[in-house]
Amino acid sequence: MRKFKLSVALLLFTGLSGLQAQEKIPQVEELLEKMTLEEKIGQLNLLTPGGGIATGSVVSEDVEAKIKAGNVGGVFGVSSPERVRQAQELAVKNSRLGIPLLIGSDIIHGYKTTYPIPLGLSSSWDLELIKEGAEMAAKEATADGINWNFSPMVDIARDPRWGRIAEGAGEDPYLGSQIAKAMVEGYQGEDMSLPHTMMATVKHMALYGAPEAGRDYNTVDMSRLKMFNEYLPPYKAAVDAGVGSVMTSFNDIDGIPATGNKWLLTDLLRERWGFDGFVVSDYTSVNEMIAHGLGDLQAVSALAINAGLDMDMVGEGFLTTLKKSVEEGLVSEEQITKAARRILEAKHKIGLLDDPYLYSDESRPEKDILTEENRQLARKAATRSFVLLKKHNNTLPLSKNAKIALVGPLANNKNNMLGTWAPTGNPQLSVPILEGLKNVAPNANITYAKGANISNDTSFAKKVNVFGQRIQIAEESPEALLKEALDLAKSSDVVVAVVGEATEMSGEAASRTDITIPDSQKKLINELVKTGKPVVLVLMSGRPLDISEEMALPVSILQIWHPGVEAGNAVGDVLFGNYNPSGKLTNSWPRSVGQIPIHYRMKTTGRPGPESGDFQKFKTNYLDSPNSPLLPFGYGLSYTTFEYSDVKANAEKLSADGSIELSATVTNTGDFDGEEVVQLYIRDVVRSVTPPGKELKGFQKIALKKGESKTVTFTITPEDLKFYNYNIEFVNEPGEYEFFIGGSSDNKMAGSFELTQ
Ligand code: BGC
Repeated sequence: MRKFKLSVALLLFTGLSGLQAQEKIPQVEELLEKMTLEEKIGQLNLLTPGGGIATGSVVSEDVEAKIKAGNVGGVFGVSSPERVRQAQELAVKNSRLGIPLLIGSDIIHGYKTTYPIPLGLSSSWDLELIKEGAEMAAKEATADGINWNFSPMVDIARDPRWGRIAEGAGEDPYLGSQIAKAMVEGYQGEDMSLPHTMMATVKHMALYGAPEAGRDYNTVDMSRLKMFNEYLPPYKAAVDAGVGSVMTSFNDIDGIPATGNKWLLTDLLRERWGFDGFVVSDYTSVNEMIAHGLGDLQAVSALAINAGLDMDMVGEGFLTTLKKSVEEGLVSEEQITKAARRILEAKHKIGLLDDPYLYSDESRPEKDILTEENRQLARKAATRSFVLLKKHNNTLPLSKNAKIALVGPLANNKNNMLGTWAPTGNPQLSVPILEGLKNVAPNANITYAKGANISNDTSFAKKVNVFGQRIQIAEESPEALLKEALDLAKSSDVVVAVVGEATEMSGEAASRTDITIPDSQKKLINELVKTGKPVVLVLMSGRPLDISEEMALPVSILQIWHPGVEAGNAVGDVLFGNYNPSGKLTNSWPRSVGQIPIHYRMKTTGRPGPESGDFQKFKTNYLDSPNSPLLPFGYGLSYTTFEYSDVKANAEKLSADGSIELSATVTNTGDFDGEEVVQLYIRDVVRSVTPPGKELKGFQKIALKKGESKTVTFTITPEDLKFYNYNIEFVNEPGEYEFFIGGSSDNKMAGSFELTQ
């Protein structure tokens, strides 16, 4: 343990406006005493050297010179123990005070052992597994020199047009909060100064997942009530779990960009939530406030530091203007000292002030990265992330001796297995679906044809192919591709078509207005169905898609997201029944883009839509679509079936200091052993502000052998019934509550209870 001993700690008060007085770290205070204003500003500067991870010298000349001059607090895009050691040496041996660097990175779903995209992993509803994934990522990343991660991304998202929906945990604040906590605990462990743990960053604070029209980086405009009840909880959960740093978002909030928003970064984050780590901007988001319309670089940099931003990512607005702002009285030196203190405290927390080379152990990469054990965990995580969307005629699971036509542009395609935001992974190490099916069922007779391009649109392909050939348009004509696939289909027992989105069709700056499967692939699917052979669609995407047409076809559908480095093996495990799928959607899937934003917590309004779903004039509904989503939040099938019975409360009343037990018996009524995510929803019937239709308040993932029954019990206390009222006070209100227990958000009311005074 490298933690500073309490006995020698100076108990001073920071003078922060925060509610909590903090213990000062002597090492940090000693450094601050010696630092010039320029050196303090230097600590607030985060750079990413050109050339990055893969090539050339550790850092470009410019960055090297800045590090030596004490003008850099951290870098990202540098990895390997050797390079990180060299970078640290530049700081430690050459800068006046020898302060080591934070070494950051975006490790969003695995470092080199890439596991499913976060939206996929959230569908496992398996917090232990999610935590294990983060622990593995931390172990691999720290072995490669990294000590600070730009994850978890916890932005609530209800708009699948937004490409970054792939990076989060879906639409729900309760589930999102649980996952945020699990990830922070996984990355940081019990002690961030151990060599296998790293500092986490919760991002993007705040509301980044609610851009108008689903367009990335767009304006967000939201009531405080909605923020507090729906969008802020996961960030707060990460803060409560002790996250070391917070990243601001690109969007504005109430007219002030997050990066310069004092209400957000100081009043809320530090004073109300008691956050004591540091706040980093997103990539050039200080400078971007110029384009937002808030002034020149000096003005926006002053705005940001005064708002409570501590570190400036890449833009160097702090480095180049803060001194002048201090001289002109726009920023106090004290504000800069506070920010520098927070950066130094972070370095202390991760052990760097005691040992700058803590994360530069050259023997580690071989032992810790891409090990067989890690790949097994990635494989397990992928199987748990898959969601069975539709079953047809018991086609699944497949026989291991079947004659299978494996078709589709994603069926044998290493370039698209890892998913968005996997810059540290290597697509060439991934197992494509074809190979994985052969690994799992060596006796099956599997033939392959591409069948279609992901898209036939060359200009669209060009936009998607920014990081490599994700959409490869074949030299053969679409007709020739199709014919080859249909010929195979006709001579096989069953067709497996792997279709959907290429990796960079979701992710950052990858918003879509049309979220259907591209036409080229729709054509393939429809022609395959016409052959009369049983068809399984294996659907890959980084977002909920509009699959209204496909759901109406006589096919089975398995949603696999972007599964990561073990993609093919995991798909084999599930298609051949070695693992019975148990994933549940963490977003509502719309019937069309016209329904967006859509989520299960929608309020009833004063004119509720008819229960039947039939149109009724002067009610809240559409002329041309039901209100309900195509697939509800929490939905997912299994090869077996589960029945719920005996859903009940153990009492009629819940007193202010008591608890109540809500339970259901779940029986596996099908022919396979399986796992079920049992979900509890509660509706507050009368509230001082309009309540959500229902709210997830608990879930348990249970395993049931065929024929087996289990009773699942949720213990609810008045604390669980709290929400933010009109005055943004976190309260509960006495009265009637209805509850629902089932296998998705679309289950019927089971009973009610009363919260008494
Ligand atoms: C993204 C962040 C990321 C940062 C650094 C930005 O473009 O919005 O999520 O952490 O780049 O790579």
